[in-house]
Amino acid sequence: MAKVYDVIIIGSGPSGYTSAIYAARANLSVLMFQGYEIGGQLMQTTDVENYPGFEQGVLGPDMMEKFEAQARRFGTEMLTEDVTAIDFSQRPFTLTADSGEYQARAVIISTGASAQWLGLPSEARLKGRGVSACATCDGFFFKKKDVAVVGGGDTALEEANFLTRYANHVTVIHRRASLRASKIMQDRAFKNPKISFIWDTEVAEVLGEDALDGLRLRNLKSGEESVLPAQGLFLAIGHKPNTELFQGIIDTDKAGYIVPGEFTMTNIPGVFASGDVTDHRYRQAITAAGDGCRAAIDAERWLEAQAEEV
Ligand code: NAP
Repeated sequence: MAKVYDVIIIGSGPSGYTSAIYAARANLSVLMFQGYEIGGQLMQTTDVENYPGFEQGVLGPDMMEKFEAQARRFGTEMLTEDVTAIDFSQRPFTLTADSGEYQARAVIISTGASAQWLGLPSEARLKGRGVSACATCDGFFFKKKDVAVVGGGDTALEEANFLTRYANHVTVIHRRASLRASKIMQDRAFKNPKISFIWDTEVAEVLGEDALDGLRLRNLKSGEESVLPAQGLFLAIGHKPNTELFQGIIDTDKAGYIVPGEFTMTNIPGVFASGDVTDHRYRQAITAAGDGCRAAIDAERWLEAQAEEV
């Protein structure tokens, strides 16, 4: 008979690896599907300076390598594959990947979220070299620089406000003439002398060879193009939780984020969720890691309670 793991973890960001460290260290048999894109969003980050324990900062990919090594040290098995189908209708749960079917008594979903990007080739080329989707992570590197933020929601204005701590000037570029953000965020941004707005405009191209040095803008009403000199571009056009696989099975909110029920357990007993896939508010490596710890402890206690019932 095929092996039934105590826990299968889906996703290999800070949350998934932390769950693996805790669960494997608690002597549970653990399999992690790392996915074809190992390491999650931190793989696209350069210096991480706000994760406690790395006083000199650490590169995002290096940090994820350390997380992985620590999870392996306690015996986590890992597969570099995406889960393509799930059957949570009976226990043990069945997960399908390219290499076959796998079974587990408990599952932790830590598939994360993905920042939305404009989709321009020039944007992709300069990611980490002026283009970012996280002001909290990268704002510090733009001291006395001119930066732009794209978006008109709460995140865009929050990021713009945050960036004024460092930047010389922040230009918010929005595709319409009215903001979606809450009134309080709008008032704060309008009052901030370091923030200005460009309306009805999209970024047509990100300019620069090795580092960003400007943006080619297009007015969506007149079609007129212009160049805005800038050293930083922050995208704040929303995030998308990676929950397609679970639609109709696991309870989510309107935006698709998993809504845990009791602690980190989802609406299906034995299936837990943690990290950015449940969190549209904090989205930090440290909060995701903390959440991964919670999910592993919840899964361990749930498994123990199940064993006592048998
Ligand atoms: P959001 O509210 O969905 O706003 C996304 C913004 O990006 C919109 O203004 C949208 O334009 C624009 N946009 C989307 N796709 C675009 C594209 N391809 N090109 C250019 N612009 C594009 O997302 P969010 O700001 O990340 O907020 C998500 C949720 O978190 C919201 O419920 C928000 O209230 C909440 N949040 C709250 C706080 C807070 O309370 N402090 C902070 C952050 C987030 P349109 O307006 O034209 O659609």
